[in-house]
Parts: sequence; structure tokens; C-alpha cells
Amino acid sequence: MVRQNILHLERFNMHKKRIAIAIDGPGGAGKSTIAKHLAKELDILYLDTGAMYRACGLKAARQNMDLQDREAVAQMLDDTKVDIRFVSGLQRVFLDDEDVSEAIRTPEMSVWASDISVLPCCRKKLVALQREIAADRSVVMDGRDIGSYVLPQAELKIFLTATPEVRAMRRYKELVDKGDGTTTYDHVLQELAYRDQQDSSREFAPLVCTPDAYRVDTSEMDIDTVVRTILNLYEEKICDQETKE
Ligand code: C5P
Repeated sequence: MVRQNILHLERFNMHKKRIAIAIDGPGGAGKSTIAKHLAKELDILYLDTGAMYRACGLKAARQNMDLQDREAVAQMLDDTKVDIRFVSGLQRVFLDDEDVSEAIRTPEMSVWASDISVLPCCRKKLVALQREIAADRSVVMDGRDIGSYVLPQAELKIFLTATPEVRAMRRYKELVDKGDGTTTYDHVLQELAYRDQQDSSREFAPLVCTPDAYRVDTSEMDIDTVVRTILNLYEEKICDQETKE
């Protein structure tokens, strides 16, 4: 793996142009873990777009907003600042200048994020910010609509998935490791099913696997294998193409 990493970095240094890697898929498929590894291997920026939707969900939750009242939500979002800052290479999310990076990581916020992300006014605001961040640098961006809507020109598109049970077990373990003793596996499984359904069926920029994306099922793969699989695709798709140019 180490030798391979050096090879990939050397090749990456040969890049003359910016590259974008889109990683989409349902919750718990491993997107953020894999995207972080890829960004490190390739020495490019990792952007977790879900954190932005979670920040908007957090604000709505704090105000106990009725998300059916679209006018009120649009007004609230107009008055909201969502900011991404990178501290020692790690992404932090700021909501109206408050660092909410930890507060957004609860099962409750997952549902608020999914509910608010249905609204086009929310998506348009955040997509503009995501595109701005990707405009002048290479990125690995993960989310639900990156390859289909945010960065349709991305050089490499990955659709990461796994069975609902595997995804729920991963999320459940993450929560337990963080000291959450209240959430059960069944609750996580239900929450993921709710989000899968809502994220895939919404009208505006739903979760889809585009025809030009590589589908990678991580159910029976460890992290290292998934990272290697994607780096191989990256090599085939981007480096080899550039060598030919
Ligand atoms: O990826 P994460 O679980 O943090 O995303 C939380 C929610 O935000 C998702 O369930 C989805 O509804 C929404 N989301 C989205 N589009 C993205 C990223 C996240 O709709 N690009």
C-alpha cells in the first residue's frame, strides 16, 4: 500500500489540471471515511457536503420550524450563514459563526438534514457554496447529488453502497464509540431506511447512480480494499488519459 501511495502521489504531481472526484451514495456506505483517505492519498481537498445540510437542519431544529412552511424556511435560510473552514486540513462547519461540527452528528440531525434537504431553496444555497469551493482547486466531494448535479463534469464518479444492515451496523458502532448509549441498532436501521427513501425520491436533485458512475458495493470490503479499488479507477480514468494527452 505504501509503495502504491507514493506512485499515486507522484502521478498526481504530474497533473496540470484540476480534478474533481464525486462520491455519492446512501448513508453509512462509507463515503466520508473513503473520501478522507482518497483526499489524503492524492493530497487534495475533501469536502463533506452532508455537513452543510446538517447545519441547516440544526438551525431549523433549534427553531422547531415547520418545514412545510416553505416561505418561513426560505427566509430563515436567507438569514443563515453556513461556512466551511479547514483547520489543520480537517473540515469544520460553522453555522452563523458557531462551530457546530460536533452538534450536527446525531441521529436526530440526520433526519432534520434529510427533511430540509428536500427543499430546493436549501439545495440551491448549499450547491452554490459547494461549486464555489470546487471552482479553483482539486476536490474529493461526497454527498448524494455530486456526480448528478453539483459537479456533473467530475472526472471520476463513484457510487458507494452497501446493504442496509451493514450500513446500519457501521453507523450504530460509530455512535456507540462516541459514547451514545441511547440509540439502538433498530433505530439506526429505521432512520437510514427513512433517509434512503426520502433522499432517492425527492424531486430536486435526488440520490441516483448516474450511468457514468462506478458502483462500488462495500458490504464485504474493508477500507483499504475500497480505497485501493477507487485509486485503481482513478489511475485508469485520469492518469492514463492524461499520459495519452
Ligand atoms: O451524508 P450525511 O449523512 O451527513 O447527509 C445528511 C443528509 O443530508 C442526507 O441524508 C441527505 O438528505 C442530505 N444530503 C443531500 N445532499 C448532499 C449531502 C447530504 O441531500 N449532497
